[in-house]
Amino acid sequence: MKTIYNGFLTKEEMAEVLEKPSFDKVVLSSGVRAKISEMFGKEMTAQEVVAQIIEEVRKQGDEAILRYTSVIDGVDLTADTLAVSEADIDQAMETIDKSVLAALEQAVVNVRRFHAEQMPKSWLTERNHGAMLGQKCLPIDRVGIYVPGGTAAYPSSVIMNAVPAAVAGVKEIIMVVPPAKDGTVNPYVLAAARLANVTRIFKLGGAQAIAALAFGTKTVPKVDKITGPGNLFVTLAKKAVYGHCDIDMLAGPSEILIVADDTADPAYVAADMLSQAEHDPLASSILITDSRELAGKVTGEVKRQLELLPRKDIAAESIEENGLIIIASDMMEAMELANLSAPEHLEILTAEPFKLLPYVRHAGAVFLGPYSPEPLGDYFAGPNHILPTGGTARFYSVLNVETFMKKTSIIAYTQAAFQEVSEQVIRLAEAEGLDAHANAVRVRRS
Ligand code: NAD
Repeated sequence: MKTIYNGFLTKEEMAEVLEKPSFDKVVLSSGVRAKISEMFGKEMTAQEVVAQIIEEVRKQGDEAILRYTSVIDGVDLTADTLAVSEADIDQAMETIDKSVLAALEQAVVNVRRFHAEQMPKSWLTERNHGAMLGQKCLPIDRVGIYVPGGTAAYPSSVIMNAVPAAVAGVKEIIMVVPPAKDGTVNPYVLAAARLANVTRIFKLGGAQAIAALAFGTKTVPKVDKITGPGNLFVTLAKKAVYGHCDIDMLAGPSEILIVADDTADPAYVAADMLSQAEHDPLASSILITDSRELAGKVTGEVKRQLELLPRKDIAAESIEENGLIIIASDMMEAMELANLSAPEHLEILTAEPFKLLPYVRHAGAVFLGPYSPEPLGDYFAGPNHILPTGGTARFYSVLNVETFMKKTSIIAYTQAAFQEVSEQVIRLAEAEGLDAHANAVRVRRS
């Protein structure tokens, strides 16, 4: 983990230090490259693999998705076994640990309650001469939610995708999740899907799952929007199908940035940095502080706590490659640097964290104070954990109820209101050279 002093760098140099690789710059491991060569008989980039998979799913439908599930995930399914049955979910509900089930149930309640507050309102307002203008907020009919499942199982991602969709009023929530090697789906993922009102579940992962949702196959219904996080193949596929359907965002490796002063507990700071690092070697963990003493103690704590982690190898690689401590001259400078980074997760561990909140301009989610660690938000508190990464918090929002809705505007003029403005509308239509537009107004004038 590097430690650098902000004062030694220009703003441009610091921006370069803080810049994260964009999702499509993620380098494939040698194992994945070898698998691709074996599958396709030649070296291919992830972009080329995704383009080919999408093309084949589009042309061959079920045949292609079943073939790719067999070749990539090593699971042989049929059109019938591709779908998870109600009996499979019943069985999952029976077998899972009841204390985890209770925690999942409470998480659903918390996430539903938080997202219900986001519900946008349709409105209608009156203007001159009784003219009415308004906006109707409508749910999307059918959405596809991607739940990652390659290297771990994420029941929390089921909840974070499906609950806001259900709150928005989406009628059909189609979930895809890669099958385990034995062709099953993790029972906690299935239980979360039942609790979160998912309509149908298919055992499908990667680019083939995204293509099936975007274009539809005989078995998998075509959806209007696809949401949810995934690996590079999933993200590249979402980018490629955008326009055929909508997508939520393009997400890359996860990040945490902690702004802390000398009142922060170094053990908390280190634990939170490592909670991010254990995700993925590409995950990044940054501390910005005005206290050299805290910086030194955190470095020691990270080393100590790292040794105790079961996922030590992944966390160590992430901390080594992407762990960073920046010493700022004061907290205002720390906030400026945090905004420059636009992190997915921003923790503020200072004596008075709320005082820094007005200075947050770019962040996916903000966690204030020592008792709001990121996992609280990841699993339970209520806000969504599907967040913009790689600096895209500059323009993307956290997944929310409006992600699953669209807006339609309403115009209803009376004759008197129309009469009053008709001349100006005609002028504008003529200025654009659109005579038929002008005429549609003229024929109504009295
Ligand atoms: P995944 O479900 O995203 O990807 C697995 C699929 O990738 C497989 O089913 C396979 O079809 C495809 N694939 C794998 N190797 C391939 C190859 N060589 N060629 C073509 N396709 C291939 O699961 P994952 O890989 O474990 O990644 C999950 C990602 O989601 C991680 O980066 C994790 O950090 C992220 N995640 C993010 C959040 C969040 O809210 N931001 C939550 C959970 C997980």
